[in-house]
Amino acid sequence: MSSSAKSFTYTLVASVVTFGLMSALVTRSSVTKGPGIASFAATEEPVKKKLPLKYIYLSFDDGPLHGSDRIDSIVKAERIKISVFLVGRQLQVSKQLGEYVKMYEENPFVESYNHSYSHANSHYQSYYKDPVQVLNDIIKNEEALKLHFKIVRLPGRNIWRVGNRKRDDGNSGAAAADTLAAHGYTLYGWDLEWRHDPKTGKPTQTADSIARAVESRLEAGGTFTKDHIVLLIHDEMFREELAGNELYQLIRKLRSHENYVFEHLRFYPTKP
Ligand SMILES: [Zn+2]
Repeated sequence: MSSSAKSFTYTLVASVVTFGLMSALVTRSSVTKGPGIASFAATEEPVKKKLPLKYIYLSFDDGPLHGSDRIDSIVKAERIKISVFLVGRQLQVSKQLGEYVKMYEENPFVESYNHSYSHANSHYQSYYKDPVQVLNDIIKNEEALKLHFKIVRLPGRNIWRVGNRKRDDGNSGAAAADTLAAHGYTLYGWDLEWRHDPKTGKPTQTADSIARAVESRLEAGGTFTKDHIVLLIHDEMFREELAGNELYQLIRKLRSHENYVFEHLRFYPTKP
């Protein structure tokens, strides 16, 4: 350090102490990093403008499916955390899909959660008539996929059981959700869905429109927990490269907000 830089540092520390602030050490190190006053201004500026953090939970349902491999490589490249809700019966479809479960397991940015073994065989009304059957189906999935966390999304239902808070979607499933909660499971629904055509798997909304919807929902405070938004996306949407590009676009648009944080659902707050 040159003697003039040193004397500038001491003068600054002295004035900070005079004003009774506790951040003298931090201030001194930021000054000595660069050449003089200009760098001081540059390093201090972002602190003043700090915005409240907003948490984004990208959650992908129904995997393993063709499309899971593309999601896996995109989140690895972008280094963002995502949550996947897996369906164990897919293991019976092909060995390849079993490999995708391992691929997710080995990806440090992915956490795998429980979407039931059977996905209700797509007969939701009769499935939810028997809460014990639902519980057993969840346990079966946990064992088949060797899942580490008691975190569930019910098939075909947007139902929440988080801490003492609950929300139902008006369909059957509330009694099954209560049974699961009584057995220590946390259930997540979603605040916003990125829609797709169930026949072709293709997204029917662009990354741009979903990014704008995320921004406005967070702005309006219309989510289950303020400043936290859960997005529902489906693995089957990314069978084709074009849709993969849309996922890249969505991630890049969201991360252009410096106060947006991608997090795993395991860290979703239990209190509002
Ligand atoms: Zn599903």
